[in-house]
Amino acid sequence: MDCLFCKIAEGSIPSKKVLETEDMLVFHDIQPAAPVHVLIIPKKHIVSMNDVVEEDLALIAEIHRVAQKVAQQLGVSESGYRLINNCGPDSGQAVHHLHYHLLGGAKLGALTG
Ligand code: IMP
Repeated sequence: MDCLFCKIAEGSIPSKKVLETEDMLVFHDIQPAAPVHVLIIPKKHIVSMNDVVEEDLALIAEIHRVAQKVAQQLGVSESGYRLINNCGPDSGQAVHHLHYHLLGGAKLGALTG
C-alpha cells in the first residue's frame, strides 16, 4: 500500500521515534508547528476518523493513553498540550492515515475555524 505513515510504521521510511508499542508509533513531525510536535499513529492503516469502526475503539482509547505518556516523556504534561486530529479536506488532512498531532512546549494560539 502506498501510504507514507504505513511505511514509517513498518520502518521502511525513517522517523525520529518517541515511543513505540505493538499497535502504535509516535514520532516527531517533520515540520514542527510548536516546540513539541509529535504525531501519534496506529500501525493499522485507517484512512481517517471517518473510517474508524467498532473494532478500532480500543485503539482510539489507547491513543489517549499514549498521548498522556508522551506528554510526560516530553515534559509538557503539566504545562499543557493539545491533541488534534484533522479529518477530510476542510481540515487540511494531508496524510490519509489516521494520526493525532500532539503540540505543546509554548503557549498555543486560540483555535480558529
Ligand atoms: P495533516 O495535515 O493532519 O495530515 O498532518 C500531516 C503531518 O505529517 C504534517 O504536520 C506534516 O508535517 C507531517 N509529515 C509529513 N511527512 C512526514 C514525514 O515523513 N515524517 C514526519 N512527519 C511528516
